[in-house]
Amino acid sequence: MRTRYRLLILALIAVLAWLLPYGLSSYTIHVANVILIFSVLAVGLGLCMGIGGQVNLAQVAFFGVGAYATAILTTKAGLGFWLGAVLAVLATMVVGLIVGTPALRVQSHYLGIVTLGLALAFTNWVTNAQIAGGAEGISGIAVPTIPGIDLTSEYLYYYLELVVFAVMLVFGLFIVRTGLGRRMRATRDDALAAGALGADVPVLRMTAFLLASIYGGVAGVLYAGLIQYVSPESFSISTMFLLLAMVIIGGRQSLVGCVAGAIGLSVVREVLSDHPTIAQLAYGGVVVLVVVFAPSGLAGLPMRWQAALARRRGHTVSAARMRPFTPYEGEASAGSSTTILRVDGISKEFRGLRALDDVSLSVTAGEIRGVVGPNGSGKTTLFNVVSGLYRPSRGRIEFRGRDMTARAPYRLARAGLARTFQNLRLFGDLTVRENVMVALDRTGTLSSWRYVIRPLSVWRRDRTRRAEADAILERYGLTEFAELQPRALPYGIQRRVEIARAVAAGPALLLLDEPAAGLNGEEVRQLSEIVRSIRDSGITVVIIEHNMGLVMSLCEQITVLAGGRIIAEGTPAEVVATPAVIEAYLGDSMNDDMPPIPEVTR
Ligand code: ADP
Ligand code: MG
Repeated sequence: MRTRYRLLILALIAVLAWLLPYGLSSYTIHVANVILIFSVLAVGLGLCMGIGGQVNLAQVAFFGVGAYATAILTTKAGLGFWLGAVLAVLATMVVGLIVGTPALRVQSHYLGIVTLGLALAFTNWVTNAQIAGGAEGISGIAVPTIPGIDLTSEYLYYYLELVVFAVMLVFGLFIVRTGLGRRMRATRDDALAAGALGADVPVLRMTAFLLASIYGGVAGVLYAGLIQYVSPESFSISTMFLLLAMVIIGGRQSLVGCVAGAIGLSVVREVLSDHPTIAQLAYGGVVVLVVVFAPSGLAGLPMRWQAALARRRGHTVSAARMRPFTPYEGEASAGSSTTILRVDGISKEFRGLRALDDVSLSVTAGEIRGVVGPNGSGKTTLFNVVSGLYRPSRGRIEFRGRDMTARAPYRLARAGLARTFQNLRLFGDLTVRENVMVALDRTGTLSSWRYVIRPLSVWRRDRTRRAEADAILERYGLTEFAELQPRALPYGIQRRVEIARAVAAGPALLLLDEPAAGLNGEEVRQLSEIVRSIRDSGITVVIIEHNMGLVMSLCEQITVLAGGRIIAEGTPAEVVATPAVIEAYLGDSMNDDMPPIPEVTR
């Protein structure tokens, strides 16, 4: 019903857009043409910043490269418009990859400064370079030709732009709603957790810039064809801020919101065109208001209203109860004697503090291994080193027979390692189902060309993944929360979502970091049932836990850490009888009334 409603609105908008030129003066149609170009730019910026989480203040430079490349290629090199256009977009993509490289090292506002610097460098270059016509710009750009259609008429040019815009928007929405966009959004929300689930974070960041540059390049080509003249002031920093305002006001996480922002601000700019100072102040003011009162922009308002309404009516999820977990019913996999994980002489130092000191242990496939020890004894650090988040100062890690020391987390994840985090790391702006779908997704981002060549197969694969995610949610009793964002859920349910997500990654070895922390008695009982069942399905489990009862009942082997060293290892009975363990635990309990050491965990 809702989709039918949406389709109806969409069809209505399409018809209106198609009929629009009939009522417009030659000046107004020009404005409409410019608005469409800005809409394409805004969608590109939305993909990079809102979806990919990469601050990009170089979008206007991409726009400029597209326009200038078209200008230079069609005037100085004498190419036809379409060939020039294709080469111009390719050139912009190269620039996009160059501008994106700093994102591999820096993020957030640092990235903003770097990209802004690159954009300024571009403006500087075009105002001075001979080939770009200096401050004069380049005129006499070729007009695009389509047999039988005179594109010098701005009325007909509008239709060319409309089609290109529609294709670009649909393509963008397609990305957002399928695997690539989901991985980008997950990386935006929590790059660390996304990497630990197998998302190739560096490639995804570059992809965000690549997408922005494609949209910027196409917009530049359209602009060159429309105005047939380019000059530096069209690609100034003030245009960049206008574009940024469009995306922030519209709502950067929603591509439709970006378009709404582009249309809205363009109209305001037109109305206030005689008062540029007032216009600047107006955008600035509105941006501030939006950032303070509606951080998700106009597009985010409906959801905020819904949430507020639900709160007022007293609908809260905290009353919701998890349905029980359905245990694994296949034949319990027989334990084997192969070593799945071998940690060999690992040390990890943090500026003089030795968090791990010559730790060696090996985990046999099919076992449940407990890791216990007082706070600050290095348990989480051990997991961080094993899962590739930290590079060990010394030592070697072998996973499934291969040397995996200091490999990128996503490589370890793809080799079959999954983990949960002591302080939950769910993707906050994704739904519970999407959280699981990210883990199910093993697509390398480099194969994203399939989006262009084989969109249908991409779509079908995504449907399958969705069904798989639903099956997992069903098994974990989480079906009723599938559409909700994790932060709306009670703590115990979030913990379970994180376990379900880690299992969805299909690991051979699962690392659980204090999964019982914050759970009530019944939830702890269910947890131990879940962990056993996970092992029965053939996954080896290493579990860090404070709850000694749980560890004693679950684990075949226990490793005890204290002060970064292994002080005991063996069966539960052996370990509790070890004097060093008794001492360490007595020491710990004597310190119980001291303020807890703040834990630095990742
Ligand atoms: P556990 O999980 O056993 O409670 P951790 O592995 O979290 O202990 O921490 C072990 C020690 O290493 C602590 O003293 C902690 O402060 C320190 N540590 C952990 N991570 C970092 C970090 N990223 N930077 C500096 N010190 C850290
Ligand atoms: Mg810890």
